[in-house]
Amino acid sequence: MHEMALAEAVVRIVTDKARSAGAERIVRVRLEIGALAHVEPAALSFAFEAVTPGSPAAGAALEIDRAPGRARCDTCASTVEIDRLGEACPVCGGVGLRVLSGDELRVKDMEVG
Ligand SMILES: [Zn+2]
Repeated sequence: MHEMALAEAVVRIVTDKARSAGAERIVRVRLEIGALAHVEPAALSFAFEAVTPGSPAAGAALEIDRAPGRARCDTCASTVEIDRLGEACPVCGGVGLRVLSGDELRVKDMEVG
């Protein structure tokens, strides 16, 4: 389950940020997960709760925003939203979509206390 590794990475990132801000406790973490990132939000929330005890993020609320996948079509040059990789262009039916964004997972915001 790669959500566990992702949750550990997120905890490392927010712990580093909190420490460099001089904060001891993390209250809230907001993540942005692209629709193409192959991350299950429920599984990530579960993993986050599993890995935070004993860290400054223990008990922190995790909020997850989904970002749409965006791609550009090589055939008709439209910029379109897609839910998963391998979809055809909704405008022209072409298959030459190049992903512009939506495959990332990032810490968007956090609150320390
Ligand atoms: Zn197209």
